[in-house]
Amino acid sequence: MKPIFKAVGVRKSFGNFEALKGVDLDIDRGEVVCVIGPSGSGKSTFLRCINQLETIDGGALWINGELAGYRQVGNKLLELSEVEIARQRLSTGMVFQRFNLFPHKTALENITEGPVQVLKTDRKQADTAAHELLARVGLGHKCNAYPIELSGGQQQRVAIARALAMKPMLMLFDEPTSALDPELVGEVLAVMRDVARTGITMIVVTHELGFAREVANRVVFMDQGQVVESGPPAQILGSPNHVRTKEFISAVLH
Ligand code: ADP
Ligand code: MG
Repeated sequence: MKPIFKAVGVRKSFGNFEALKGVDLDIDRGEVVCVIGPSGSGKSTFLRCINQLETIDGGALWINGELAGYRQVGNKLLELSEVEIARQRLSTGMVFQRFNLFPHKTALENITEGPVQVLKTDRKQADTAAHELLARVGLGHKCNAYPIELSGGQQQRVAIARALAMKPMLMLFDEPTSALDPELVGEVLAVMRDVARTGITMIVVTHELGFAREVANRVVFMDQGQVVESGPPAQILGSPNHVRTKEFISAVLH
């Protein structure tokens, strides 16, 4: 089966600093991949490159067989236009550490904005889908609430519903629970577990090793801009090969 996502030798520098030093990763359809690693190892940069919020300096990314950001003509790569990149960006949905909801829109309006404005979905149909999504994330009773009236956990659940409303092929989560009060982490992880069960492909950057162990098909450990090792959760979390992985895991657990 063709991977739904493929990264080959992805490099990204900020000035003289190389944040990604050649990242390779293949992901199959329906896989849930958790990415772990110390702060500054390039996890967010990698997700931002996948979502084309950053351009890459080397290597290549494919989503569903389509080269991200470029068109190949003969043996030349031509940069895609902003419009084409915006279209490609629709194949990924991103959930950030901070929820970034529109403050002046209700939960429902936050969710329908993208489908109506960008996908040109009929308003009534978008409303129906948004109601269903809100029910799925346990917020069917909060359709008309504004972000300020919601807890951090509830806002993050709306943010997940908002991303799903665009029907992405690949969901990207960047430490979605790390800005939450500890008592609110569980409800967001429960929603993510439920989303994973629907079979959508997910890349989740997280320090929640329990979640990774339970939900991920694969855990990827990144350090200093590289994938150090990857494998089944039990192996990477239980008996990693590399000392850096070992050190990171024991630091997170203690
Ligand atoms: P992680 O998410 O693993 O904590 P990041 O991807 O955010 O790591 O960052 C990787 C490295 O790249 C860090 O050293 C960070 O300071 C640097 N970096 C990230 N974004 C920028 C930027 N826009 N400009 C300069 N340096 C950046
Ligand atoms: Mg980060």
